[in-house]
Amino acid sequence: MTTEAQQFASDNYAGICPEAWAAMEAANTGHAPAYGDDRWTHTAADAFRTLFDTDCEVFFAFNGTAANSLALAALCQSYHSVICSAAAHVETDECGAPEFFSNGSKLLVAQSEDGKLTPAAVRAVATSRSDIHFPKPRVVTITQPTETGQVYTVDEVKALSAVCRELGLKLHMDGARFAHAVATLGCDPADITWRAGVDVLCFGGTKNGMAVGEAVLFFDRALAQDFDYRCKQAGQLASKMRFLAAPWVGMLENGAWLRNARHANGCAQRLAGQIDGLPGIELMFPVEANGVFVRAPEPVLEGLRARGWRFYTFIGGGARFMFAWDADPARVDELAADIRAVSGTTALAA
Ligand SMILES: *Cc1c(COP(=O)(O)O)cnc(C)c1O
Repeated sequence: MTTEAQQFASDNYAGICPEAWAAMEAANTGHAPAYGDDRWTHTAADAFRTLFDTDCEVFFAFNGTAANSLALAALCQSYHSVICSAAAHVETDECGAPEFFSNGSKLLVAQSEDGKLTPAAVRAVATSRSDIHFPKPRVVTITQPTETGQVYTVDEVKALSAVCRELGLKLHMDGARFAHAVATLGCDPADITWRAGVDVLCFGGTKNGMAVGEAVLFFDRALAQDFDYRCKQAGQLASKMRFLAAPWVGMLENGAWLRNARHANGCAQRLAGQIDGLPGIELMFPVEANGVFVRAPEPVLEGLRARGWRFYTFIGGGARFMFAWDADPARVDELAADIRAVSGTTALAA
C-alpha cells in the first residue's frame, strides 16, 4: 500500500506516536481485570497525579465531545447554564452533546474578539439576569488553546477564576490541545490549571499522538461524585480499559506528550514564518499553538487545492493548517513554497 503525502488539514490526520503505540503493545500481554481495575489504568491515573502534583480524580473517555459533555453535565443541574465563547467547540462542534448529557443545561454564548473569554464577558453574561425565568449560570468553560490557537496566560486564567469564584461559578477547561498550550507557556501543568483556579480539565490525548482517548481530571474531588456512573451510562466506560489507559502511561512517563506538542507548535511557527507578509496572504490569528489560519484570495486557495493541498475553511473562510506530532518539516516547507508560488502568481495576475 502506498502512503499518501502528508496533509495538514487536521491534526487528527496523523497516526499514533511510537510511545503510545509501544505502551499499547506492552499492555497487550495476558489478561488483566476489566473496567479500569487493571494496573495500566492505576499507573496512568497516578502519572497524571504526579504530573499535576495533586491528588486529582482521573477518568478516561474515548473522545473530547464525551469528556467535555460529561464533565459539564457533572457540574450542572438541568436548569443551570454554561458560559462559553461563541467559537467554543462545545457550542459549534459537539452537536448539542453538552445539552444532551446534562438533560438541558443551556450554553450561554459570549461574543469575543479572538475566541478567548474575558472576565468582563463572563460577568456580563452571568449577571445579565437573575430571575427565575433564566437558566442559572453555573459553569464557565474555556478552551486552552482556543479553537484558533490562542493560548490563555496563567494570569488570564487566574482573572477568569477570580470572577468565577466571586459569582459562584465553576471553571472547566477544554484541553483538547492542552499539551500545546503548556508547550507554549513553558509552565508547570498545575500552574495553568488547579493553581490558577480550574476545577475540571479535559486533557486531550488524540490530538497529542494517541489513537483515541481523553482524560478528565477533577481537581476538586467532590465534583467527581458518581462520575463513573455518568461515564458508564453514556457508553464511555471501556471494558478493556487498559488499552485506553496504557497509551497515557507511554505519553506521560518520558515526556512524549510535551515533545509532541513542542514539535507541532514548532511546525506551525515554521509555516507562519515563511508566509507572513507575502502579497495577499494574511495570518488570521496570532500563531501560539499548532495551527495556522491563512486568509487568502479565493484563487490562491484554489491554486493550493490544485497543487493537492487539503484544508478546511470553516473558520472565517480562511485555510486552516494543523500540525501534529509527526509533521514533517520538509513537507511544511513544501506547503510554504506552494503558498509563495501561488500567491506570487495570483498577485502578478491581479
Ligand atoms: C478536537 C476537539 C475536541 C474533541 O473532539 P472529538 O472529535 O469529540 O474528540 C474538543 N475540543 C476542541 C477544542 C477540539 O479541537
